[in-house]
Order: sequence, then structure tokens, then C-alpha cells
Amino acid sequence: MGSLAALVHKPRVRLPLGFGHSFQSGIRSIQLMGCGAYVEEIDKYRAIGEYPSMNQNYKCLFEPVTIGPVTAPNRFYQVPHASGMTEANPRVRAAFRAVKAEGGWGVVSTGAVSTHPSSDDSPLPFARLWDDNDIRSHAMTCDAIHQHGSLAAVELWHGGAAVMNRTSRIAPYSPSGIPWLATHVGFMGNQRPRIMDKQDIRDVIDWQVAAAKRARSAGFDIVYIYAGMGYLGYEFLLEEYNHRSDAYGGSVENRVRFVRELIEATKDAVGNDCGVALRISLEELRAKASEHYESEAHEVVTLLSGLPDLWDVKMDSSPTDCGASRFCAEGSHEPVIDFVKQVTDKPVVGVGRFTSPDTMVSQIKRGILDLIGGARPSIADPFLPRKIREGREDEIRECIGCNICISSWHDGVPVRCTQNATAGEEWRKGWHPEKFAAPGSDDRILIVGGGPAGLEAGLIAARRGYQVTIADKAVTLGGRLVFETSLPGLKTWNRVHDYRLYALQQMGNVDLYTESELGVEEILALDHQRVAIATGSHWTRALYSSLEIPQGAMEQPGVYTPDDLAAGITPQGPVLIYDFDNYYLGGVIAESLAEQGLQVSYATPAGHASAWTIMTNEQPFVHQALYKHNVQITTQALLNSFDGEQAQLSNIFTGEALPIAARSIVIVGLRLPNDELYQTLTTRQDELEAAGIKSVDRIGDALAAGALVHAVYSGHSYARQLDAPADELYLRDIPVAQVPPGPVIQSS
Ligand code: ADP
Ligand code: SF4
Repeated sequence: MGSLAALVHKPRVRLPLGFGHSFQSGIRSIQLMGCGAYVEEIDKYRAIGEYPSMNQNYKCLFEPVTIGPVTAPNRFYQVPHASGMTEANPRVRAAFRAVKAEGGWGVVSTGAVSTHPSSDDSPLPFARLWDDNDIRSHAMTCDAIHQHGSLAAVELWHGGAAVMNRTSRIAPYSPSGIPWLATHVGFMGNQRPRIMDKQDIRDVIDWQVAAAKRARSAGFDIVYIYAGMGYLGYEFLLEEYNHRSDAYGGSVENRVRFVRELIEATKDAVGNDCGVALRISLEELRAKASEHYESEAHEVVTLLSGLPDLWDVKMDSSPTDCGASRFCAEGSHEPVIDFVKQVTDKPVVGVGRFTSPDTMVSQIKRGILDLIGGARPSIADPFLPRKIREGREDEIRECIGCNICISSWHDGVPVRCTQNATAGEEWRKGWHPEKFAAPGSDDRILIVGGGPAGLEAGLIAARRGYQVTIADKAVTLGGRLVFETSLPGLKTWNRVHDYRLYALQQMGNVDLYTESELGVEEILALDHQRVAIATGSHWTRALYSSLEIPQGAMEQPGVYTPDDLAAGITPQGPVLIYDFDNYYLGGVIAESLAEQGLQVSYATPAGHASAWTIMTNEQPFVHQALYKHNVQITTQALLNSFDGEQAQLSNIFTGEALPIAARSIVIVGLRLPNDELYQTLTTRQDELEAAGIKSVDRIGDALAAGALVHAVYSGHSYARQLDAPADELYLRDIPVAQVPPGPVIQSS
């Protein structure tokens, strides 16, 4: 155990890039986004326009690309992605998109914007251009994007059978009455769609045209037609959804007709002023044989080849299109979309969780893409293009592919990101990802615990200019991630601590200590005025009751928690994983132990393995991974007792006995804060005062155990709030759309 003496005399931890290197930042203050917060701006030589230190191999990424009548200033293209922001929070939305333009994305797109009330995805958050009242809030976004010299794109969208029109109560539209249940992700509804007649088809095209004209009025430079991800255009393309016998069904040429007419009508309406983009999913089509082409995907793209000004190509469902890094590597779309540029002269944009400029350049040079599409990488680091341009690739905050951003859309709230705590908070809290308020005092900040919360708090406090000390009792900084990233599929999550440690190492106002356990006496003696307790949490052996709450505990030999495994214990097989945490860890531990050669069973009170991972697009792959590892899955199960040879479980609804042979059990269930240090410190107020300690706060899991995203946000928030006036911490957005004149209650 480290002591104060050990801490004081221990040399600063030697991290790979050398500690104590001073960060040349040249700071001056500017006002941010009219919310009154003073921020620091990186000095002028880093401003976009002067790039003495850019790696010349990356130069091609900054070439302009013509898209119909408009020109993208570079190849960085923030493709349409859900933000959880609608007309209800137009300033939040405008600021979120504008920061990406500021960060160098040459094109910045909206998420799905519905063309008509028959495309109503409620309660999921979606935007609208249903009538002229919706123009103003979109104009706000366009203006904000244009201020930084980027193009604004709008993803006009009709959801067809994939939306349930729960609010508008219009029977959903579809080519042939086949429901889109999106069974992979389980968003269920029991409204079946109507079969569109010819008038319905004309109506949808008219609504697209009307929305496109509104989009042009709002200031958008690129207007989309959407034929992907199960939505209406896609349903016409796929023979599984399109059983029509008229001119819109049957042959590929007929199935393409609806999309062709949407493109033609949009071009006629706005094509002189706006680029017209087609967003299309090619995964299923590429898997289908075609009589005269290599696949139906080749046939569809060839038939429409020169029609759109831009091809935006992607996969078919969220779990494959937006695959979690646990199961999908960077660039995983390439085998599906690699042919498109061979059959069209128009520019092609695609995604692949690209964060490496070398991979991006390779995509361009090998003729796969013309524009580097980014959704998640642009959320995790809105300044990714600028960092490449300025030769600061090492400072990119790389997306870890955890898909918490997706889960926030499923939750119906503005986007949240594990790596970028400022995402969605640009306007509401005035948080800029690269700019930080100057320190409000000379206070020194002591952070106890160097996990995700402690590292983020330390980094942001240091960027603000505070003198920061981070001390951790462990040999390595990173907290829970040190163990968890050693488990199957989680290596990419190393980026959480790698990014922060690298940044901290570049700063002269930071001291990092490992093997330095701090207790009350050390903290009182360390002459720091503010103390953040970031000591994490611990897994308990609590069980789960039929009342569906954690209850009791299985404290006996052979019963372990993830903390025991992290400490190096290998349980004896056969082993049962009992999981009511429901996120990734239970499933990942099952995979890990199976890979070590143990016979593994997995049981949960939930209906699926790792049930919450449905929110992050991972669940179908979790089941596949467990199956591949021969892990027997038992769902709806309560764990009751264990005799060292057999675990007794029962069905949560029927009570049916479900015995499972096991020599050991790993319970992945209730996690509780490690807050003893905080509790003890706060009972010693007089001593704190005498030591000059002004505040002691808990952050991250030490406050409330959660996912990484919660820990990082908590650390970030702590550092932003140091010496901040309370009234600047939260702004409330209101809609800008005009309420049309009319009675509150319509008379019939
Ligand atoms: P979070 O996700 O909130 O950052 P973690 O559990 O990942 O939490 O990290 C907590 C870190 O705190 C761990 O690295 C642990 O070693 C460290 N820690 C816990 N107690 C102490 C202590 N008394 N002194 C120093 N470090 C501590
Ligand atoms: Fe990437 Fe995770 Fe952030 Fe989404 S939440 S952008 S997957 S780091």
C-alpha cells in the first residue's frame, strides 16, 4: 500500500510519451455561443487555414468535391445520423451540428427529417419539414453550419412500414402490406401497413418535393432521398417487401421506379440550387443474384447511376450499419459498398467508424469512396478533420464503438457519447469540446482514483488551467477499464484512457501517480484545496428476487464477482454466470471464460442474454457469440441456492426448477459505490478546514455506479463546474416554430 511518504517520494509515473512535456497552447479568451461562458481558444497557428504541420500524405482529404450545383470544401462528410434533437430543441440541435462544422467537417447533415405526418416515428425523436412552420428551426441549423464554411445537408425521409404513426394515427405506407418489424432490434408495433395505390405513390413524391422546397428555403445545400434501413424507398427495392404486380414491382427495373421518381421529382424541384443525394442500403441487394449483373445491388446502382448528384451507401439495419466495435471492425462496410464507384461517375460517401487518417486516405486512393463519411467519429470528436489538418492526429478523441450514442436515441433523448461528454451539451451547458473557461481560482485539484471519471475530471480541470494531481492505488491508470479491455471484443475501449493519458502527459500542470493509495491522512496533508473522490465501485454478491429487486447475497465459497476475476482469480469449471446487470459484462465474461477452456452456462432473470445491449445494437451478436462459445443460455431465471456442485434456479414467472451443474458462480449484478473515503472525510469538517480543503466531491462510480458514459460525464461536469457561477450551468431550449393561427379546439 502506498502512503503519503510513498506518494511524495515516488517519481512521476513514466508513461510512454514522457511526462511533464509542456503543452504550448497560447491562450486568450473569447465568448462562446452567446451563453456568457468565457472560453479559451487554441492559438492562431492552429486555426484552420494555416497548416504548417499537416502530414502531406493526408492532403487529399482536404480536396474539394463537387456535388451537383454545390461544392464540399473537403472530403469530411458528417453523414445523416440521429441526434435525438427535434424542433423542440432547435438551439441544442443547431449548436450540436455547428460544432462539427467548426471542427472541419465539410458537409454536416441532419438526422431523419420526416416529409409528412404519415412518416411519424414517435415516441422516438425525429425532425419534421411537414409545413412552413418547420422551416425556421432548420434555418437556424443551416445558418450555424454555414458560419463555418460547411455545407448543410438534410436527410428527407419517409419511414413507410417501419414507422407506426403512433401520434398521427395514419395507417403506415408500404408497397405490399408487409410489415417491417426490424426483428433484430425489436422495435415492435402491432399496426400493419396499408398497400399503397398509385395515388399514395404520387402523394409521397409530392410530399418529398414540398419538403425539398422547404429545405431549400431553410438554406440546405444538399437534399436527400432515403432508400435505406427498411424505410419506404428500401421497401420498394427489396422483393421481400415489394410483391406488386404493377409498374413498381417485379423486375429490378420496376422496383427501382419509385426511388427513380423521387430523385427525378426532387431534382426538378430544387436540383439547380441543391445537390440531390441518394442514401441507399446495399447489404441485402448485394447478397441477391441478378440475371445480368453481379448482384441486384450492381443492377440498382447501374440503373440509377448518374441520376443522383451523390451516392450515400450503407448497410441495411442499425446493428450492421452502426456495428459495435465489439463485433465490427473499422471499415466493415467495404465488402458491400466497394463496387459503387465502378458503376457511377458521381461522388460516393460511405462510413465505417473511420478514425485513422491512413485508413481514410486508403479508401480514397483505392477508389472505394470520394468522401469520408462519419457519424460516430464526428460525435466522439467533432474536431477530427481540423486535428488532421493541423498535424494533431495524436489528439483525436477516437470513437470506441460502444454505441451509447445509439442507445440515447432509443431512449428518446439528445445524443450522449462516452468519449465526448460535451456532445448534446454545446448549447444547453455551453460546453465546447475544445474550449474551456479559465480557472476561477488558484486552487489545486486532487483527484483520488484514475479511472474514466478521475482521468476526465483531471484532464478538463488541467485544460482549464488548474494544477491537478491524480493518484491511483493501482499499478496502471485506467480503473475498471484495465481489466475490462482485456476481455473479448473490448480492446477498442482502451481509447478511453489512452486518449486521456496521452493528453495529460503533454501538460505541465499535471502530476500523475500510480501505486499511491490515499487515505484521509494523506489527503489532509497534500495541500490541495479541492478533492474529487473517484474511487469507483465494487460488484456485490447480491441476488435478484421475485420482486425484481436485488436482495440478499450469496456469500459462500465458489461464488465470485467480476472484481475477483479482475484480481486474477480463475473460477473452477463448470461455471455459471448469473447476470442481472444486463449490459455487456456478463456476456463478455462468459465468452472470456469459455475461451479459457471452461464449460460455461449463462443465466439471467431477463428475457435475453445481455438484455440491455438491445439499446446498443449488440444483442443479436451477443447471442451469436455465446452460441459460438457453446455457452448454454437460461433466461427468466432466479438463482436461489448453490451447493458447490449444482446451482438451483427457478423460472421467475412459473417457479419451475432449473438446476444447472456448476462448481463456481460469477454474479454480475448489483454494483455499489466505493465511497467510504468520502464518507469518512466529510465527517471531519474541522480538519478539512484546517487543511485548507474547500470541497470534497464524489464523482463517477464512487457517486453512483453506471456505464463508462456516466463516469466520463460526471468527471467532465465536475471540472467544468469548478468555480463556475451556478446560473451558467443550464439553459432551457424552446421551440422557434410559429404556432399557426387557429382555435385551440377544432370544431367539427
Ligand atoms: P470510475 O469509472 O468512476 O472512474 P473506476 O472503478 O474505473 O471508477 O476507477 C476507480 C479507480 O480508483 C481505480 O483505478 C482504483 O484503483 C482507484 N482507487 C480506489 N480507491 C482509491 C484510493 N483510496 N486511493 C487511490 N486510488 C483509489
Ligand atoms: Fe463512439 Fe461510443 Fe461516442 Fe457513440 S457513444 S460516438 S460509439 S464513443
